[in-house]
Order: sequence, then structure tokens, then C-alpha cells
Amino acid sequence: MGYVMRTVEDVREEILDAVKPLDPVKLPLLEAWGCVVVENVRAPYDIPTFASSAMDGYAVRSEDVAGAGDSGVVLKRVGSAFIGKAPDGEVGPGQTMWIATGAPVPPGADCIAPKEDVTAEPDSITVHKTFSPAQFIRPPGQDLQKGDIVVPAGKVLAGPELGNLSTAGFAEVRVYPKIRVCVVSTGDELVEPGSKPSYGQIPDGNGYTISGCLKELGISPVKPPIVPDDEDLLRELFVSKAPDADVFISSGGMSVGDLDVVRKVVEELGKIDSYKVAMQPGMPQAFGVVEGRTYFGLPGNPVSVFVSFELFIRPALMKMMGRTDLDRPVIEASIDEEMEGLVDKTRYSRVFVYRQNGEWRARSTGPAASNLLGTVVKGNGLAVIPPGDALIKAGEQVKVQMYRPLEQVGAFGK
Ligand code: AMP
Ligand code: MG
Repeated sequence: MGYVMRTVEDVREEILDAVKPLDPVKLPLLEAWGCVVVENVRAPYDIPTFASSAMDGYAVRSEDVAGAGDSGVVLKRVGSAFIGKAPDGEVGPGQTMWIATGAPVPPGADCIAPKEDVTAEPDSITVHKTFSPAQFIRPPGQDLQKGDIVVPAGKVLAGPELGNLSTAGFAEVRVYPKIRVCVVSTGDELVEPGSKPSYGQIPDGNGYTISGCLKELGISPVKPPIVPDDEDLLRELFVSKAPDADVFISSGGMSVGDLDVVRKVVEELGKIDSYKVAMQPGMPQAFGVVEGRTYFGLPGNPVSVFVSFELFIRPALMKMMGRTDLDRPVIEASIDEEMEGLVDKTRYSRVFVYRQNGEWRARSTGPAASNLLGTVVKGNGLAVIPPGDALIKAGEQVKVQMYRPLEQVGAFGK
């Protein structure tokens, strides 16, 4: 059976339509790090909950110190207000209490005289300045008022969001769970990394490319040992790993050759759409369901694997985790050397984007061949050359889909 040829946009749309966020779960705060919040979380009370001092000093009554001129005002010290405790007294007229930063303001006092503005004796203080009501007091509800949004729906939980949830009294939060992804590397020629390949063998690069890209999404990959081109072993792997995975990603064995057993096995085990994508690199691919799990089948060539992951799998996995910011940034850059398009395919050329004289420039990191993973390592973006065999000349603009954050782009023309 030959493959149908489909456009990148068509395949991407099919995949993104088909995948859905997993069912939400309630997780303890630290386990929820990196996950997307399902619904607006609202403050159950004012934060901070009580008025506290913004300074180390003395809790005073503003009317008492209104007359503090050169000679100052003397107040009687009636106690201390410590952090973490309710005040054990009141500040009456002519009185004061020592107060620490963060300690609740005792009743009666309406402002704080910082210790720098006071001369202290054991039983009294002299205040040398005037203070207005509420001065140096952190009022309740200053950060969030009851009912305000602590973390909005759709937000990815990072440190400050977790801190805000804890501050608002939550120990758990409802999020879309991280997905479990099983990465399957197939091929008789593959060996595990670190073991010496005999002549003609190669280490499993794809399994690590994919697993590393998963880690960047906060996903811990499930990475079983390499599977040779053997139908029974492959079948056994999919069946045995399905309980531990929400998604399978395989590389290799997608073509229509005798050794391309992956395609046969997944078609037998599941419901699979196999097609060629009109792109270079990365032609034969598959998408569907295997053993009840979302399945992505990638070709074996290392650059095809990376580019296909970027274009199709990364946004799909993000959607499954509740993310809506699925697209990488695309910028326009002028190219340093000419680039050739293909008649009927979109070409994704690896480039290094840099900033020079106030404009983005892109230079090729090597030949177009889809086995040269080093061209991805040296680059930071994919120059998108649309179908049509146009020759784009040096100095002309191309769109570049970035795969490294823009802030890491060499700003100094390195
Ligand atoms: P295939 O699609 O299985 O015919 O593989 C196409 C090319 O990709 C062959 O040169 C394979 O050796 C290579 N390849 C397949 N799997 C991997 C892998 N996991 N790591 C590196 N190269 C691979
Ligand atoms: Mg193979």
C-alpha cells in the first residue's frame, strides 16, 4: 500500500483536533509544579489576613505623636508585639509597644514609629517624628482580597504560583496531569548508548532526542530498551507498556519495506492513519491509537524525528496537558546564503538566528540531509521554505520557527 501525501497544516490540524486534555486531578502543590490549573482559584480570605508592621519599631497612636517636634514625645512602654502571636495587650493613650516586622499591630495603635526615629529607655521611648494613620502598617487584603483570583485557569504553575496557593491556604490544586509517554526505538541496527557498536550498528539517538524534548515539557519519559525489527517483540512491548503510558512515540520502521515492522504491528493493534507528510525532512508518519493509547509513529532519520516532534507531537502533548500556548515563536529573519525550496514539500532548514545591526539574521547550520542531527544542535530555529521551487536569495526574508527561547539567541552576533 502506498501512502497518501498530506500537507503539514492538514496533519497538524487532524492531530490537534483529535487529542484532548486528560481528566483533571487534584495534586499536592509540589507535584502540581509545571501543570496547568483547571479553574480560577480564588482567595478564601483577605491576604494578608491581619494588619502587620512593615518595620521594626514601636506601635503608636498617630494622635499621640502629632506634637512630636524637636523635643519629641515620651510614651510609656507597655509590652511587645511579636511575630506569629496575637498581641497580648493594647496601646492606650500615651502608651506604646515594641513591634517586630510582620507582627500583628496591637489594638489601639494605628501607625509604627520605626526604631531609627525613636530613643528607647527600658520603660519608655521618645518619638522624634510625627506619623500619619496607617503609616508603616501593612493592611489586611493588600495583596489579595477574599474572592480575588490567586491563580487563573490555564496558568502553568511555577514557583510564585505555588507560593500564592500556599499563602491562600491551599495544600492541593486541581490541574491537568502530566502525561506519561513511552518512547519506543526500533531497529536491528541499534545499540544502547555507551555500548560499543559493531561495524554497521549505531547507538539509539532518536530515543534520547525524543526523551530529552519530553523533559523540556516537564514529562518524564518511559524508555524501555531498544526493540529489534521483530513483530512479536514489538507487539509484546506495546501491550506490556500500555498500562504505564498515555502516549506512545515510536521512531523507525515506518516505511513500506519488509523490515518496517512497526507500521504492521501498530496497524494490527490499533486504529492508525499512515501517511506521508509533504515536508522535508520527515516523510512517512503515522498517528492514531494503539492499545487504547495515543500513538505517534515517526520515521527513523534523526532530523525527521526532531522536526516532526516540533511540528506535530510537541503541540499535541501540550494540549493533552491543558496548555493553550501551543505555538513556538516565529520570527522573520534575513538569510545569509541562498536557500532552495522544493516543488511539492515544505522544507524546514536548520538555521542559527542571531541579531545584527538591529535585525534578525539566519545562517544555515549545514546540509539539508535528514540524518545530520548536528545541524539541529548547532541551530536554534527552523527556516520554513514553503512549497514551490523558489530560490530565496541571500538577504531575503524567511520565516523561522524557533526551537530555542528567543532570549537565548545570540544578541551580539556570535
Ligand atoms: P527506518 O525508518 O527504520 O528505515 O530508519 C531510517 C534511518 O534512521 C536508518 O538509517 C536508521 O538506521 C536510522 N534510525 C532509525 N532509528 C534510529 C534511532 N533510534 N537513532 C538513530 N538513528 C536511527
Ligand atoms: Mg528501521
